[in-house]
Amino acid sequence: MHSAAGIEDRLFTPARIRLTAWYVSVLAAVLIVLGTALYLVVRNQLLNSVDNGVRLVAERASEQWTTSGSINISHLSTGPYTVNWLLIGGVINPVDENGKVHLDSASMLAAAENGSDLRTSGSNGDRQRVYSVRVNGPGGPAVIQVSRSLEPEHEALSKLLVGLFVGGLLGLIGAALGGWFLAGKSLRPVKVAFDRQHAFVADASHELRTPLAVIRANAEFISTEQPENAEAKEIMGETDRLSGLVDALLAVARGDEATPALALVVDVAELTEGAVASFQPLAAEKGLELTVATAEQLEVPGDADQLRQVLVILLDNAVRYSAEGGRIHVQARANGSTALVTVHDTGIGIPADQLERIFERFYRGDEARNRQSGGAGLGLAIAQELVNRHHGKLTVESTEGAGSTFTVQLPRST
Ligand code: ADP
Repeated sequence: MHSAAGIEDRLFTPARIRLTAWYVSVLAAVLIVLGTALYLVVRNQLLNSVDNGVRLVAERASEQWTTSGSINISHLSTGPYTVNWLLIGGVINPVDENGKVHLDSASMLAAAENGSDLRTSGSNGDRQRVYSVRVNGPGGPAVIQVSRSLEPEHEALSKLLVGLFVGGLLGLIGAALGGWFLAGKSLRPVKVAFDRQHAFVADASHELRTPLAVIRANAEFISTEQPENAEAKEIMGETDRLSGLVDALLAVARGDEATPALALVVDVAELTEGAVASFQPLAAEKGLELTVATAEQLEVPGDADQLRQVLVILLDNAVRYSAEGGRIHVQARANGSTALVTVHDTGIGIPADQLERIFERFYRGDEARNRQSGGAGLGLAIAQELVNRHHGKLTVESTEGAGSTFTVQLPRST
């Protein structure tokens, strides 16, 4: 028996990881949107205030030019701004007070032509916001240019970006830890329910098996005392079938526990021959022709009892859903690295719209027909579960009224 920790690992840890991952991804998406919006708003504000600054200084310089025909830099309180002016037609002041040339001639030309011009010039590391404006004054028409380095803003924006990134990352790590904790907490009730179901299945298994064993023992006793008693034999047969069903049903309900021993090797060809042989009396009784064709040897890793159960379910259905005179052909063969077992019947077939559903638990085809045939709608669900456990596939092809072919694909031993 597998431990509860094993079940926890298989079922709950992935669910917990998925919940946490969802939580973190949603939060990451929200943070990215908010962070981008914040960055853009701050950037806009900073650049706007630089623009306002260059315009303001240019306005004051223009005033000086229009009233006095010259510009006195010391009266402008320029701060971080550099002011240049150029008499249209002649150079007046191409050099600032530090002897540095700060003229963006393209901007000046644009302003001389259009009245004003605002642009960013310079390359990374020395970007400037440049505003040029044309003015008239006693000294003649001139272009005044005010520029200011954008580096402080760019530096502030880079810091903001780093801050947002680091903050976001820390936030996500915190959220992941919190999410992990909360997911664990919210999964706890599910786990309790699961444990309860687990205990119930174990108890039910015990409670159902014991009376069945007693019934069988009694029927066997009667059968030995009165060898001609057909009813006792039928009770034994039906009890065996019921025991098989109980076992398989509980195995499915307990899905997590009874994993097949894939280290063992099963000869599917031999298994198929055996299963078909055990159905010959039933087939003969129903007037069905049951044939089998198998490969020499067809080994797959798995559990012989579970694989036999799959064949029994498919054969049982083939017999049950075929009318007298029908044929059932079973084949086991290799196809590359896959072992294929097909159970073909010429029975009633399955309507196309039901093909998808027949593997569901408790799903049964035509209600009236099946009630008569006594099935519980569990066979194929169990068979599929068992095949899946062997990393195989159970598929069906069917034509209503013509017959069905069920195919079991299993990976072969290497
Ligand atoms: P049950 O046979 O107990 O009803 P199953 O899960 O074995 O339950 O099958 C589900 C349904 O699939 C059946 O009720 C029947 O309608 C259909 N079915 C299964 N096998 C065959 C078959 N060989 N031929 C026709 N119909 C089938």
